Amino acid sequence: DLQRPVRTRFAPSPTGFIHLGNIRSGLYPWLFARARGGQFILRIEDTDTERSSQEAVDVILEGMRWLGLAHDEGPFFQMQRMDRYRAVVQQLLDAGLAYRCYTTPAELDALREQQLAAKLKPRYDGRWRPEPGKRLPPVPEGVAPVIRFKTPQGGSVAWTDKVKGLIEFSNEELDDLVIARPAAPGEAIGVPTYNFCVVVDDLDMGITHVIRGDDHVNNTPRQIHIFRALGAEPPVFAHLPTVLNEQGEKMSKRHGAKPVTAYRDEGYLADAVVNYLARLGWSHGDDEIFSREQLISWFDLDHLGKSAGQFDEAKLRWVNAQH
Ligand code: GLU
Repeated sequence: DLQRPVRTRFAPSPTGFIHLGNIRSGLYPWLFARARGGQFILRIEDTDTERSSQEAVDVILEGMRWLGLAHDEGPFFQMQRMDRYRAVVQQLLDAGLAYRCYTTPAELDALREQQLAAKLKPRYDGRWRPEPGKRLPPVPEGVAPVIRFKTPQGGSVAWTDKVKGLIEFSNEELDDLVIARPAAPGEAIGVPTYNFCVVVDDLDMGITHVIRGDDHVNNTPRQIHIFRALGAEPPVFAHLPTVLNEQGEKMSKRHGAKPVTAYRDEGYLADAVVNYLARLGWSHGDDEIFSREQLISWFDLDHLGKSAGQFDEAKLRWVNAQH
């Protein structure tokens, strides 16, 4: 939709020190917003409280600042938005688009065993899903319910991904997603789950283009259903292939990737790193060396690469020397 002003976001989880492969998922939405005169929003996805840390948040903020990837709004922190997520869960409950499910973990395990024994794909069987004319089981004592989203039955969900083309999932494959965890005593609604919070955020923040790693492709059909249940058109999606390290593995801290700020400390130029990362998964003909202004004027989502880029420190040094 060319009429709507572009709004993109970067939504890192502060669960480890952000490396160059991660920050590339922030560079592209920033470039796209700048290329289209839009807005770029920074959102910190800190709901995994065990693994999130302030140090990791600081590396994200410092890395973005060093690379000159300024955000127009935020940073928003998901932990500060829990009341809002709960209110939207309640809205879906009120609309009959979500329901309380009292199936216990032990019952789910038993169901799973049965399904596996019958060579079926394990999935929730919808026993608490209200349907016209259906008798639900009696509500058990002392079981804290989760809240599940009523995934449409039959048919499929599809989108045209800016990187991967048409992707379609059968609704059969998606069971009724848990959108809130078991409520603690005295709580009406438990902690909302990840896929749900992302949709509420993208909706509230008016995101038009979701540009993120392709490890989220399997979340997208569930998120699209939630957008529609909330009466919204889903954004455009662009799922980026992973960045591989020099050994051909997924780039990760565990496999020795350095935090972004290490490159600053080693004296690399921000413009060179931006140039190198942009070129790692996007192309403009055979051009290798770009100024920031050229990148902003040429960047588009139609020339994102379909295969995984491989990090190469020697090449980064070469690009740095050209700047
Ligand atoms: N927080 C997610 C991650 O770090 C990104 C979620 C998203 O972009 O939708 O992988």
